[in-house]
Amino acid sequence: MLAQNAKIVCKLFTIAIGLVFLFPSLYLFAVNNKIVKTKESTIIQKPIVFNKERIILTRQYRLEHYGIKSRSIKIKPLMVVLHWTATKNFKTAYDIFNRATLNNRPELKGGGNLNVSTHFLVGRDGKIYQLMPTNWMARHVIGLNNIAIGIENVGGENGKENLTSAQVSADIYLVKYLKKRYSSIRYLIGHYEYGKFRHTDLWKERDKNYFTKKVDPGKKFMYLVRSGLHGLFEKTSVHDPVNNSH
Ligand SMILES: [Zn+2]
Repeated sequence: MLAQNAKIVCKLFTIAIGLVFLFPSLYLFAVNNKIVKTKESTIIQKPIVFNKERIILTRQYRLEHYGIKSRSIKIKPLMVVLHWTATKNFKTAYDIFNRATLNNRPELKGGGNLNVSTHFLVGRDGKIYQLMPTNWMARHVIGLNNIAIGIENVGGENGKENLTSAQVSADIYLVKYLKKRYSSIRYLIGHYEYGKFRHTDLWKERDKNYFTKKVDPGKKFMYLVRSGLHGLFEKTSVHDPVNNSH
């Protein structure tokens, strides 16, 4: 009997020791990966380099392109723009955004040396990564950067419409999350639709010739995401941006 009790005590002791070690490791794992767990999904914090140089370049971009002179790089989000990265895998895409200055993008170089970026990057498996604060300006959509939160989806290499259903669900979740967080958000567009805002009050680009044709993230993807949002943006549809821009 005594031996049995000793065995039980011993087992309990082992479990207790196990828990003592397990909880701190789980805690450390969560802290190190800065996981923000919400009800339906998870946003993993994976900050890109946003050093002094990038902040200064962002200020310069706002001044040169939008005529905004400010020490702050904060924006008031009115719009969410969905993209694809035109790269095959997550790492390649992340590495592109993870530096302060622009490399190998001659078509954008005329717009300044600030590197392109995005607030969120969604992997092919639907995992959501936040790369920078949602209220800082990212360079991802000509003319509208000062009001737009960007969501990039890994895929679309060579213009192929190959974004996954996991990405559709992730984008739906993320747009809902952002709309809840910012009541100011009134528009959801695919990057290929941004030209429709060219003649509205929202368009701030001073250089009339600075415009590139876009196809991302594909019409099918936008249709699927919009279908999943159940009319969340019905009243401010992109099809009639002029009437909704005031
Ligand atoms: Zn894009």
